[in-house]
Amino acid sequence: MNEYKLKQVMVRVARRLDQKGILTSTDGNLSALLDDGGTLITPSGSCKGLLEPEQLVRLFRDGSPRSGRPSSEIALHRMIYAKRPDVRAIIHAHPPYATAYAVAGVALDQPILSEAILTLGKVPVASYAMPTAEELARSVEPLVEHHDAVLMRFHGAVCFARDIEQACYLMETLEHVARIDFIRRSLGSNELIPQSEVARLEQLRAAMRMP
Ligand SMILES: [Zn+2]
Repeated sequence: MNEYKLKQVMVRVARRLDQKGILTSTDGNLSALLDDGGTLITPSGSCKGLLEPEQLVRLFRDGSPRSGRPSSEIALHRMIYAKRPDVRAIIHAHPPYATAYAVAGVALDQPILSEAILTLGKVPVASYAMPTAEELARSVEPLVEHHDAVLMRFHGAVCFARDIEQACYLMETLEHVARIDFIRRSLGSNELIPQSEVARLEQLRAAMRMP
C-alpha cells in the first residue's frame, strides 16, 4: 500500500475507534509500516477523531521523524516491530472495559468465546510501568512474542497485526470480550469451554497464524 493510501486508511481507523469510545481525547496512538521500511505514526498530543492524513508523522527506517513530532510512545511501537517481523501495524488505546481489567490486573485468558480464542488469543497483563515510552516498552516486551494483544497495568492496551485494519479489529474485539467477560462475571457464571475444545481451537489459531 502506498503512503497516500495508508494515511487515508489510518485516519479512517482512528476516527472509527474514536467514535466507538475506544480512543478518547488525545489518548492512544496508531502506527503502520510502509513498504520502504519507513513508519507512519500519529503525532504527539493529537485527537484521533479529528486527525487529518497530512498530520501523520513519517519516520525514516532509523526511527527519526522526517517532519513533525511523533507520538511519545514511539519506543513501544519500535520494540514490537523489532520483536515481531510479521507485525505491520500497532494500536495503543485505553478502551474502558479492557483498561478496567488492566487496572485490576486480571488477564483475559479464560476460554469463554470460541471465536475470541481464534482471533484474539489469550491476553496477558504486563507489569506496571511509568508512562514513558522506554518503561512501557520494557514491561510489554516479554509478552509480545506469543500474544497479539497485551493489557498494560494501570494504563490501557496494545494490539498488533499484519495491517492497520486487522489491528483495529483486534482492539475492538479485545474491548468487546472484556465487556462480555465483565457481564458473565456479574451473572455469576463460571462456565468455560471444555479443555479438549480449547486445545482444538488453539491448534486452529496456530495454523491460521502461520505465515
Ligand atoms: Zn497510553
